[in-house]
Amino acid sequence: MKIDGACHCGAITVAAEVDPQDTTICHCTDCQSGTGAAFRVTVAAAGDSFKMTGQPTAYLKTTAASGRPRIQTFCPTCGSPIFSTSPGEHPRPSYNLRVGILRQRDRLLPKRQIWVRSALPWLAELDAIAHSDLATVPASQKIR
Ligand SMILES: [Zn+2]
Ligand SMILES: [Zn+2]
Repeated sequence: MKIDGACHCGAITVAAEVDPQDTTICHCTDCQSGTGAAFRVTVAAAGDSFKMTGQPTAYLKTTAASGRPRIQTFCPTCGSPIFSTSPGEHPRPSYNLRVGILRQRDRLLPKRQIWVRSALPWLAELDAIAHSDLATVPASQKIR
């Protein structure tokens, strides 16, 4: 499946070929702090299919929860996470693209969850949390 996307400000664009079966939710604490969100959703792109415009900032996380060094990249202007990969020369074997920046994100259904021992406990009850299409939940639905 061909995918493409851009960071929040548009300075960085990506395109690649992915197998949607490789869409994964990661609940590790690195992904929580690295996204500022409850979990990270990634899809693995084969290195030789990966194309990018713009220059992300990269840093090497040497103490990842997995114990392996990982390069994390993000847009230096808007901060959107772009991908993680292993240290080495381009093209690397794979790039774990951040699904939230991809235009096809609604078609990339996660197939597995990893590091569930650090998953935030309220995720299992997500449907029970008051929700709305609007930016705020109407007062009548708020749980007090
Ligand atoms: Zn950006
Ligand atoms: Zn993770």
